[in-house]
Amino acid sequence: MRRGITTFILLVVVVGGFGVLLARNAQPVAPVSAVLPTEFHPTENPNLISELLQQNLGENSTALPTVAIPTTDPIPTQPSPVPATATLISAQELSSGLPTEAAIAISTPTLPVAASTITDGTASDATVQAVTPVPVERQPPPLIPPISRDPLGRDHYWFQRPVDSNANNAVLSYYSFGSDGPDPSNPLRVHHGIDMPNPIGIPVRAAGSGLVIWAADGRQQEAATIFQNSPSYGNVIVIEHDFGFKGQKLWTLYAHLSASFVQQGDIVQAGQVIGQIGNSGRVSGPHVHFEVRLNENTYGTTYNPVLWMVPYVGHGVIAGQVIDREGFPVMDADITIRSRTTGLTVRTTTSYVILDTGFDVLSDPNWQENFAVADVPVGRYDVIATIYGERVIKQVEVREGTTSFIEIKPADPVTPDASATPAS
Ligand SMILES: [Zn+2]
Repeated sequence: MRRGITTFILLVVVVGGFGVLLARNAQPVAPVSAVLPTEFHPTENPNLISELLQQNLGENSTALPTVAIPTTDPIPTQPSPVPATATLISAQELSSGLPTEAAIAISTPTLPVAASTITDGTASDATVQAVTPVPVERQPPPLIPPISRDPLGRDHYWFQRPVDSNANNAVLSYYSFGSDGPDPSNPLRVHHGIDMPNPIGIPVRAAGSGLVIWAADGRQQEAATIFQNSPSYGNVIVIEHDFGFKGQKLWTLYAHLSASFVQQGDIVQAGQVIGQIGNSGRVSGPHVHFEVRLNENTYGTTYNPVLWMVPYVGHGVIAGQVIDREGFPVMDADITIRSRTTGLTVRTTTSYVILDTGFDVLSDPNWQENFAVADVPVGRYDVIATIYGERVIKQVEVREGTTSFIEIKPADPVTPDASATPAS
């Protein structure tokens, strides 16, 4: 009997203990404090991007695309491995002296979205931090700059890439350097840089060593010449490099940042993290806008960064001139790069748009191109250009770490053969 009581007490203790454990485990877990990027709500409307791009791009704005990258875009993107807002420096801190303007630049929706184009009704603020959570295709490592493998010495891949290989390094194809956007009937401001859409918080790195000459909001008075007094750059860093090209100075520019880790006057090394991807300024989604400037640090002295930024291992660049029969450059020609091995289109772009505004984009001093596409895998390609409605195809071979140049010009019309004319 006594043994029975002991067993009963033991049973009560064990069962009770389990109960306490269960109750403790059932308590809700404390919420994780990290704030992750807003989930991207894909739209069914394929025209959303171009509609967004066409809105509110006024005289004073560099047009800036990159809403959520369209899911059909071949560019892979990497969901942020970084808690998006955990370490951000506020815009006020970044732009000391003009806190209210900076705050406005970031908080004001710049591209209102027509309600009819939104499927879920939540994305009316176009500055929504949308990223495309598609599986990322990891890039191979970049080559080590500076390199110049062209036998004639024309290449100048002096710069590292501004974002890491596990982030999205691909250049936004529908708004490439010198392009006026995807819709010919509603052109955007010609693009003076390249855009790499990435989630907020992804590190941005110095493309080369040098001196930080600007690290603040781009609208401050003393920045007028650098940025054309444009509000569109948002928080921006400019590095004056400690090396040049043909005796001229070089600058790189990184815009729309959410944070800057450097200050004016800092010396930075190539690859040093200088800031973070953001959506400050006039944007419709987070990205870094990257420019290369030569000889003068102005909006009117920008060159195509894909001819300066080192390619990946196993990849090269195609640059060329699309010209008409008289040899004049053809603007805004659609260009398709198609693999001769697979028959698949690997890149599309358009030729530069030159409007004689006094600050047009410039052709490379060595290549004199009017188009260039980055990161083409080594191989043989058809380059197909539409020149005033006529399709012209040229073949090109891409070699690693160098630029393959191609001239695309319509064949001369077939002239009647005089000898074939019957003698009278
Ligand atoms: Zn841009």
